[in-house]
Amino acid sequence: MTQRIYNSMSERVEEFTPLRPGRVGMYTCGPTVHDRAQIGNLRTFLAEDLLRRQLEYQGLEVTQVMNITDVDDKIITKARTAGQTLEEFTAPYVAAFFRDLELLGVEPAAVYPRATQYIPQMLQLVQRLLDNGSAYISEGSVYFRISSFPAYGKLTHLDTAGLRSGASGRVDADEYEAKEQVRDFALWKAGEPGDLASWPSPYGWGRPGWHLECSAMSMDRLGETFDIHCGGVDNKFPHHENEIAQSEAATGKQFVRYWVHAEHLLVGGVKMAKSLGNFITLETLMEHGHDPMAVRFLLLTGAHYRHKLQFQEELLEAAERDVSRLATFWRRCLEVEDAPGEPDELVGLAATGLQRFDRAMEDDLRLPDAVAALFDLVREGNRLMDAGRVGVEGARAALAALAAADRRLGVIERRALRADFLSPEEKALLERREAARGARDFALSDQLRDQLLGMGIQVEDTKAGPRWRRA
Ligand code: AMP
Ligand code: ZN
Repeated sequence: MTQRIYNSMSERVEEFTPLRPGRVGMYTCGPTVHDRAQIGNLRTFLAEDLLRRQLEYQGLEVTQVMNITDVDDKIITKARTAGQTLEEFTAPYVAAFFRDLELLGVEPAAVYPRATQYIPQMLQLVQRLLDNGSAYISEGSVYFRISSFPAYGKLTHLDTAGLRSGASGRVDADEYEAKEQVRDFALWKAGEPGDLASWPSPYGWGRPGWHLECSAMSMDRLGETFDIHCGGVDNKFPHHENEIAQSEAATGKQFVRYWVHAEHLLVGGVKMAKSLGNFITLETLMEHGHDPMAVRFLLLTGAHYRHKLQFQEELLEAAERDVSRLATFWRRCLEVEDAPGEPDELVGLAATGLQRFDRAMEDDLRLPDAVAALFDLVREGNRLMDAGRVGVEGARAALAALAAADRRLGVIERRALRADFLSPEEKALLERREAARGARDFALSDQLRDQLLGMGIQVEDTKAGPRWRRA
């Protein structure tokens, strides 16, 4: 099977071939931990998770590195205000970030290097750039000399790229006057000794620039040339453009082979952003009663990863129903005990369904199309089951197809196996039973209790109200 993926550098969908056969090095720009992650950030991390899972499904061994930016202007300001060290200030956000990833079923990266732990590697990179004339020192800061790197702008395909201010809104307030040219950017920023974000260097006390972090950490963990570098589209400029410049100027080698960027999550037509104050966290959605699996499903399948997705909380209800439909079908397949019918039509349908799923995924991760194939399988499967035409063989084939799809989608098994999960049908029965009890219609309530028991749900009436568990 071949994998095709859109490369922002060539602006084309390309066939993916790793540098070393069978092995992939993948770097993903991680969170800046000055606050909780918002679900826009999470959409990007989920798209990266999808890519990684798909490559693994293809039999490739993926080493994913995701950095944690634990020093930047916002973090410093907030930590200072709170009277905390960087570490104290960022720790709860780092923990919350990992919790979000776990709740969403994101596969852990091999390593999560933190910027503050890579100062020596960053300083080595700065020195290489100074030694070959790609950088200069000015007033205790070190700047990258863009005029020394003629290929600057090749990712964003803009010759004027260097003249725009930071597309991601990160125009550093302290990298002004001292530069030879406005578009030059800081590799190392002068600081004060003893400041909470200051390290000694050959150029005096200071701290690293944001772009430098990712170059130093990615090359340290994955080598000077590696396969895939991901991020949200706002990272392209200036962040990734600057990463390319400083890495390639230092090594003289191609930095990254495939650049993969995920489009934004919008609210009310504008990008969801911490700085715009229009952001929603996973925690908030869970407080509103939404299942993280529905959030994962919506963020991954609501639109192709290269298209914008307009967030509306109501969309989570449809996602909820979709996830539940898949999980219910999964469980239904598990319960089939009959001997195989002759011939079991579901066997063929499962194979075609998975094939369609795989073809769509191989073509630049078209998950929304892949999922449509899955729902066709579920619809047909339910129809055959209703007609009593599915035996263990067909059920097993359908389960295998669902499991294979779920290695990428990542919601079905997790949801189906979860003990605290009730399908809408089960929930409705429980509610009817409560209503019957409320109306003192014990005959009906007992009948509904038996019906639920038949579905594997044991209901017990306690002083605090009815409790249920899966038998
Ligand atoms: P940050 O924590 O700001 O460094 O962002 C972490 C990641 O989230 C980056 O890859 C950003 O490109 C991405 N990102 C930020 N806002 C959004 C959004 N509204 N939709 C999708 N991705 C986003
Ligand atoms: Zn980065």
